[in-house]
Amino acid sequence: MFKITKTDYLDYTFCKKNLWLKKHKHELFDDVELSDFEKKIIEEGNLADAEAQNLFVDGVLVESVDNEAILDTKRLIDDGIETIFQGTFYEDDFFIRADIMNYNKSLGGWELYEVKASNDIKRKEPYHYVNDLAFQKTVIEKSGLKIVKSSVIHLNKEYRRGGEVDYRELFIFVDLSDEVVEQQVDVKKQMEEIKQYLGMDEEKGCECLYRGRNAQCTTFKYSNPEVPEYSVHDINRIGLSKKLFYDWIDRGIYSLDDIDNPEKLTGAKLAQYNAHKKGSAIIDRESIISELGKLVFPLYFFDYEGFVSAIPMFDGFGAYEQIPFQYSLHIMDEKGNIDHKEFLITDPKGDITLPLVKQMKEDIDPSGTVIAWYKTYEKQRNEKLAQLHPEYADFLNEINDKMYDLMHIFSKNYYVDPAFKGSSSIKKVLPVVVPDLSYSTMNISKGDQASERWEKMINKDTPKDEKEKIKKDLLDYCALDTMAMVRIYQRLLEIVKLK
Ligand code: SF4
Repeated sequence: MFKITKTDYLDYTFCKKNLWLKKHKHELFDDVELSDFEKKIIEEGNLADAEAQNLFVDGVLVESVDNEAILDTKRLIDDGIETIFQGTFYEDDFFIRADIMNYNKSLGGWELYEVKASNDIKRKEPYHYVNDLAFQKTVIEKSGLKIVKSSVIHLNKEYRRGGEVDYRELFIFVDLSDEVVEQQVDVKKQMEEIKQYLGMDEEKGCECLYRGRNAQCTTFKYSNPEVPEYSVHDINRIGLSKKLFYDWIDRGIYSLDDIDNPEKLTGAKLAQYNAHKKGSAIIDRESIISELGKLVFPLYFFDYEGFVSAIPMFDGFGAYEQIPFQYSLHIMDEKGNIDHKEFLITDPKGDITLPLVKQMKEDIDPSGTVIAWYKTYEKQRNEKLAQLHPEYADFLNEINDKMYDLMHIFSKNYYVDPAFKGSSSIKKVLPVVVPDLSYSTMNISKGDQASERWEKMINKDTPKDEKEKIKKDLLDYCALDTMAMVRIYQRLLEIVKLK
């Protein structure tokens, strides 16, 4: 039988077929690399685990793994250790490592604590914290121990760092004991079902045939070879139009070319379909002229890069609060002349964003229009900076009030190309609209990669020459983001023949 870990259990609650494939067809997952973002989430979870241990004095960490860890845990319990980190149990094919166990003498049993690097309690698969605890409690109880309390320790979203991290303030304890006991009945049933399910020689049916592309896992193609690479699953938010979508799937309509009732499509879905059928871009010239007519020179093509961490690293910021560590700015005057400005925090100390805001104030005259791509992100960073630096709030608010989102030309379907495949992300739009400009040759090509590189650059242990290289890569990447907007803007002018 397979060893079933807690992650397996949570995967099962999300998609049992996915778990079955992981166990029986592991090779399907060999080429699947975790994204930088996914790696970061795992690292943050491990970091939160380690930091939460500061809340318990005299705890002993089980550092070994697998069978040795199980034996070490037994030894610690037999030796009367009252607080154990990463206690490990393997019972009846189920395997767990408990973040924190603390013996409660008055209740005559163990308190179980699960540390979560999140800002709240989640009760939805696959991150159902009550089920997670109920699973662990069941396995530990199978070993003969008594669990008298089950709690989650998560991050306090109200906490803002000021000096050294105050772990008592950073973490919040939530006692879920009653819910866990109640849920344990269902979880025990699920645990039996998993064993039976994984014991099957064959597994059929992939529910994602009835879900949009974003909901699917990487095995979709394996389970659904008849579905083309670009299919009705890629139509913009098709999962929300259930009746229409389900009907196509029931009738075996997978290709956009096979849709026989396009009159039922509206908005972005219809625009995507029409561009696909036409085989070339559909451009609403009047609307683009009207949009571009709203802009006031000089134009400021602006982009931030941001960094987040579960355990706040800098004063004034809380768990998972985005820290704008860099901006790039291309400035265009009425004659089309272009200037470039940039700022990168290389040695964060004290009030780390103050020099950045000061520089912005010198670089931007808010009487011109600041242009971003998906402006919500830049506006939220400005709001945070205005809170941190009230003396610059008027300046930042004025920028926000007048900010223009260049993405709107594409998300409002004024320009739809079949190659966008229903997306208005700059990474999809740029190679189509400005094919000679590309992220593909860049050492940094994504925002989460930039964040990870910045953390490396500011680390005191990173060698000086590596820091210099990362600095250059970060500046190049952010500059390309704003140059991409400049070039898209210029191309739009050509298309509507304003230039
Ligand atoms: S594609 Fe969807 S239903 Fe199929 S295995 Fe993956 S997650 Fe499960």
